[in-house]
Amino acid sequence: MEWLVNGVYLLVAVLFILGLKAMSSPVKARSGIAWAGVGMVLATLVTFLVPGMQNLALILVAIVLGGGVAWWAGRVVKMTDMPQMVAIYNGMGGGAAALIAAVEFARAEVHGPVVGTLAVLGSLIGSVAFSGSVVAFLKLQGVMKKAIRLPAQNLINIVLALLTIALGVVIVLSSMGTGSANPWLLVLFFVLSLALGAIVTMPIGGADMPVVISLLNAFTGLAVGFEGYVLGNPTLIIAGIVVGASGTLLTQLMAKAMNRPILGVLFTPISGEAQAGGAIEGSMKEMSATDAAALMRYSEKVIIIPGYGMAVAGAQHKVWEMAKLLEDAGVEVSFAIHPVAGRMPGHMNVLLAEAGVPYEKIFDLDEINAEFPQSDVALVIGANDVVNPVARTDKSSPIYGMPILDADKARNCIVIKRGRGAGYSGIENALFYADNTSMLYGSAQQAVGDVIGQLKELG
Ligand code: NDP
Repeated sequence: MEWLVNGVYLLVAVLFILGLKAMSSPVKARSGIAWAGVGMVLATLVTFLVPGMQNLALILVAIVLGGGVAWWAGRVVKMTDMPQMVAIYNGMGGGAAALIAAVEFARAEVHGPVVGTLAVLGSLIGSVAFSGSVVAFLKLQGVMKKAIRLPAQNLINIVLALLTIALGVVIVLSSMGTGSANPWLLVLFFVLSLALGAIVTMPIGGADMPVVISLLNAFTGLAVGFEGYVLGNPTLIIAGIVVGASGTLLTQLMAKAMNRPILGVLFTPISGEAQAGGAIEGSMKEMSATDAAALMRYSEKVIIIPGYGMAVAGAQHKVWEMAKLLEDAGVEVSFAIHPVAGRMPGHMNVLLAEAGVPYEKIFDLDEINAEFPQSDVALVIGANDVVNPVARTDKSSPIYGMPILDADKARNCIVIKRGRGAGYSGIENALFYADNTSMLYGSAQQAVGDVIGQLKELG
């Protein structure tokens, strides 16, 4: 039986890696999810055949309950609430990994310094990922004020981290002979680890949120990998390492794209709240859908910048319909994606791919920023922070230093949004007051729909 289990585990590892590979391209991402999903089902099923497996009925009940809730949530969750769902599910993975270590200590099955160290490290990292992800979930859901900073926050973080690590060392040393640890020490260790995750994540806001969500994701992977070693389960080790490594790479890429060192994100977080910045000059000018349509119809080059508002409105299909009409009229249309547009990494890419926008028309910040000065219109649809020029100029701004899409450098800029609502970071946007910017007020669906109507009339 063991050869069958190990053979299937090997197959599962191949499926996970193939799945991840496919996910690197929006065109193949769906099939990547399917490959990885098949791998996950196989890994779960074959685990029932592992010699000595106990409590099969309980495991089945847990699978039915967990699978049922996830199936239901996956069906009812709105596209705009996806980031929260991803954050909380990621946290569940970290929490589950931490619990594995707790159970193994309770069963007195943690033998030797290596297994002990990995069990403790896995539970520390897993608990941090769990409580940090819960905080991230509450922020994205709008339940928690965006950034809560304690007095002497960094000192508290460091003292708490050192205390938790010291306690972890005591637990490893005390478990060496017996394979178990004092339950009260374990409880205290978990309380401290959970507090650490929550307290480190609470002050993080604004443009740093995506980086921290990605970091917590990497933590979950690491925790799962470590606990896989404790359990002697190769699939858990491989799945954990794949998630940990890809999460770490994503975190590095996001931090680089945001021009923020990862330690800076953790220890000198950007507040999510508005701060007094330099005064913004100018006034907002309104534009009608008729004028917007005419301006774009007779342009040579239009760059569309989608943001969170396009996701909320679910306007991506209409946006692509409008882009096709413009292209039919001979206008060159491209899409510019900021690395943190929306509320999760790749949010805009996923929506545009779903609407059928060809991959070659979608450009990252680095690829397209030089094009703005040569473009006739930058059309901003429900984006705000990612096009705010104060990030370049105002040192007191909470988004200072974040690279932005240079919509303000286009000859004309049209901004579609409902009103004067701020973006995620809660600050005013100097772009909306610029001389070359006009506001087309309305929900993205309706405003783009109106422009489509006008474009059709123009022929
Ligand atoms: P923002 O959150 O900055 O702005 C969105 C804008 O969309 C708002 O100003 C709002 O204005 C407008 N809007 C809302 N609903 C609609 C609608 N139905 N139709 C038209 N417009 C609408 O979005 P960005 O994408 O520019 O920036 C993302 C922000 O989120 C960044 O600060 C980023 O750091 C943060 N973040 C990103 C994550 C990620 O992984 N990508 C994760 C967590 C946070 P109005 O109300 O007037 O319509």
